[in-house]
Amino acid sequence: MQGEKQLPWVKEALTELRHLEEISQTRKLTTTECAYDPWLRIDGKEMLNLASNNYMGYAGDERIKNAMIDAIHTYGAGATASRLIVGNHPLYEETESKLLSWKNAEAGIIVNSGYTANVSIISALAGRGDFVYSDKLNHASIVDGTILSRAKFLRYRHNDLDHLESMLKKNSNKNRHLIVTDSLFSMDGDFAHLKELVQLKEQYHALLMVDEAHATGVFGKKGEGYSYHLELQDKVDIHMGTFSKALGGFGAYIVGKSWLIDYLSNRMRGFIYSTALPPAILGAAKAAIELAEEDQERRTLLHDHAAHFRRSLTDYGFTLCGSQSQIVPIMIGSNEKTIKFAELLRHEGIAAIAIRPPTVPENQARIRFTITADHRKQDIEWAAEKVALVGAMMGVIG
Ligand SMILES: *Cc1c(COP(=O)(O)O)cnc(C)c1O
Repeated sequence: MQGEKQLPWVKEALTELRHLEEISQTRKLTTTECAYDPWLRIDGKEMLNLASNNYMGYAGDERIKNAMIDAIHTYGAGATASRLIVGNHPLYEETESKLLSWKNAEAGIIVNSGYTANVSIISALAGRGDFVYSDKLNHASIVDGTILSRAKFLRYRHNDLDHLESMLKKNSNKNRHLIVTDSLFSMDGDFAHLKELVQLKEQYHALLMVDEAHATGVFGKKGEGYSYHLELQDKVDIHMGTFSKALGGFGAYIVGKSWLIDYLSNRMRGFIYSTALPPAILGAAKAAIELAEEDQERRTLLHDHAAHFRRSLTDYGFTLCGSQSQIVPIMIGSNEKTIKFAELLRHEGIAAIAIRPPTVPENQARIRFTITADHRKQDIEWAAEKVALVGAMMGVIG
C-alpha cells in the first residue's frame, strides 16, 4: 500500500469511496426505465417500486406531460438566461400566480430546485453573527445553506423543543434568529411539532422557515402542505416546497409575505446567478398544482395505502421510527444487516433503499419504503408479506 501515499488526494479518496461502494452497492447508478411506474424494471428484473417520491403518481400523468409539450411548442426548449436577464418567460408569471392562489399567499417565487432554494434562502437570511436553529434530522440542503451563510449553526435534537428553547434562551437579544425545520421528515416519516415551534419563534422573535418538500401535494385540504393541514400557514414566515416529489416534476417554490419575497429575490444567489427553468418545467408545475388542488380523492387513497402498510408492518413486529405518513422506515440497526436486508428484498422483487449513516445516526440504519397513490391495495399487502418474510429470515422480527 506504500505507493498509495504518492497518489493525489482525489485518487485516494476515490479508492476509499470505491471500497465503501463495494460493501454497500447502493451508490451505484442503475438505469431505471419508467420510474413513474409502480412496477419497475431494474437491470431487467421486475420490481415493486417502494423507493420513489412520486407520491401522487403525477410523474406519469398524461395531462402534465401534455402541458409540458404545449410549453415547449409555445416558448421553446430552454430559458436562455437567468430570470433577471431575459429568461423570465410568461409561464413564470402564470405559474407563480397559480401558486399564490393555491397557497393563499401574499407573494411567492419559483426557483430551480429544492436544494437551490434552501441553500439560497438560508444564506440570504442569515450571516456572520446570526443564529440558525436546525432540527438534527433536517435535509442536507438546509445544512449546506446554513454552512454557506456563516451564521452560528445550532442543531437541536430531533423534535426536542426543550433543547431548542435552551439554545434560544442563551442567545436571545443577539442579532437575527432563524429556526428551520422539515415539516415531514424524509428519513423517519414523522412530523415537526409546528404548533410549538410557532410559539417559540414568537416568544424569541425568530423567523420560522418550514420545508414542505415531502408534504407538498400530500397534506392539507388542497395539498398545500402540512402547515396548512394544521392551519398554521399564517404563522410560518417562510414556506418552501418542491415540485419534484408528489408533484411529479422539478423545481421549488417559496411563499411568504411580500417584504420577504422581495428581499429574497434581490438576495438569493441561486436565483440571481442561475439560468431560469425551461418552459416545460413550468408547464408541468402549473398543471400539477391544478391537479393537486382538486385531487382529494387521490390523497385519501394515498393515506389509506400508507396507513395500511404501516399497520401491517407493525403487526408483523417491525419498529417504524414514528412514521405517520407515506414515508415508512423500518429500523434495522447495523449497516451490514441493512444492506443485506435491501439485497434480499430486491431478490424478492422489492425496490427499497437502505439508509445508513451519515444520513441517519450511527446504528440506526434502516430500510425506507415510500408508498404512492399508484400502488394497488394488493401491491401493499404483497409487499408487507415479503418484507415480513425477509425480516423473519434475518431475525429482525420474531
Ligand atoms: C428532496 C428534498 C429537498 C431538495 O429538493 P430537490 O427539488 O430535489 O432539489 C429539499 N428538502 C427536503 C426536505 C427534501 O426532501
